[in-house]
Amino acid sequence: MDIFKRVDLDKSPANQTNNVKTERIKCLIIGSGPAGYTAAIYASRANLNPVLYTGLQMGGQLTTTTEVENYPGYPNGITGPAMMDDFKKQAERFGADIRFGIATAVDFSDKIHRVSFDNNTVIEAEAVIIATGATAKYLGLESETRYAGMGVSACATCDGFFYRGKDVAVVGGGDTAAEEATYLAGLCRKVYLIVRRDTLRACKAMQNRVFKSENIEILWEHQTIDLFGENGVEGATLIKRKGTPEEEIVKIKIDGFFLAIGHTPNSEIFKPYIETDKVGYIKTIPGTSKTNIRGVFAAGDVQDPHYRQAVTAAGSGCIAAIDAERYLSELK
Ligand code: FAD
Ligand code: NAP
Repeated sequence: MDIFKRVDLDKSPANQTNNVKTERIKCLIIGSGPAGYTAAIYASRANLNPVLYTGLQMGGQLTTTTEVENYPGYPNGITGPAMMDDFKKQAERFGADIRFGIATAVDFSDKIHRVSFDNNTVIEAEAVIIATGATAKYLGLESETRYAGMGVSACATCDGFFYRGKDVAVVGGGDTAAEEATYLAGLCRKVYLIVRRDTLRACKAMQNRVFKSENIEILWEHQTIDLFGENGVEGATLIKRKGTPEEEIVKIKIDGFFLAIGHTPNSEIFKPYIETDKVGYIKTIPGTSKTNIRGVFAAGDVQDPHYRQAVTAAGSGCIAAIDAERYLSELK
């Protein structure tokens, strides 16, 4: 019960018998992105009577974007919110019990897994599917928020297509930045790679791809301090060699500004029980959704440092539901 104590001792189920409602179910799904809803569709159809808690962001990351053009089945594209509404309706059609609520603490020490929601409901589940996604890191500039969806993106694979033949910048020096810059170099006229140090963190192979791309210009030791433009991003203001005698303000003209400075997997509350990598991505047994705890499965971006796409998240939600169904049938 440490985890409940760690989060809020006074409100833990052990200490708060009056106001806490406890409910026993077969299958709990945490998260309402493509992974969670897909798991709900499969789990409902397998008669697991799943209960899905949506979290704060009902529909997940895609509700923050406009056009989704790379999800199969929508030949003319679809907006992110409309697509996630379709996912939800499909899950509801098969009887998934979809509820608003945020998982605040877990206790995976027993065969029956306990998850506390909003500190007032405890769900006891035989199987749990974690589909809480990952959140892209931003620099924290006010202008990033102002131009969200108007030139600022944290996903080149998702949005790069809209910048064909244009000039863009990618911020970061790791594998993601190198990968995104190389991807964008195949679509855009020019790609600036804004690197805060004088070296890349990316592996040598990825670095070589960047160095070989003729239309990538690396801006070493530059940091972004602002974005500007009338109806969307038209440029960025950078500071070069900040804090040195050669400090200089540099302006670049760009149509798109891509963040690639890392993601934070939403795995914090599970960490006392569930193994993660050093960034926080939940480790699963390769080819499955199984975590180190029997009966607890992970799907979508929370366990995927590499692909982070709606279709891969949905695919892994399907895998998690099938794994959960097999686990539950073995328990019988
Ligand atoms: P998410 O979509 O991140 O959903 C996570 C869910 O978990 C949310 O519902 C959240 O409320 C819930 N949650 C989190 N913590 C808790 C908690 N404690 N308790 C309960 N619930 C919780 N991919 C594409 O394939 N094509 C695109 O065009 C595309 N465009 C994108 C545009 C943007 C701006 C962004 C940010 C991403 C885009 N992506 C795109 C990536 C895609 O959105 C993700 O890969 C996908 O949404 C991951 O799905 P998921 O189900 O793993 O998690
Ligand atoms: P990362 O390795 O943590 O790199 C983040 C990069 O962003 C670093 O270069 C960092 O600079 C920079 N950065 C962080 N905060 C910044 C800020 N505020 N301003 C400017 N720059 C900032 O993250 P990642 O590239 O997303 O990679 C995450 C993990 O996934 C890594 O383990 C990586 O190897 C893996 N990955 C692998 C592949 C692949 O194998 N194909 C692809 C993508 C990712 P500093 O270097 O100065 O710290």
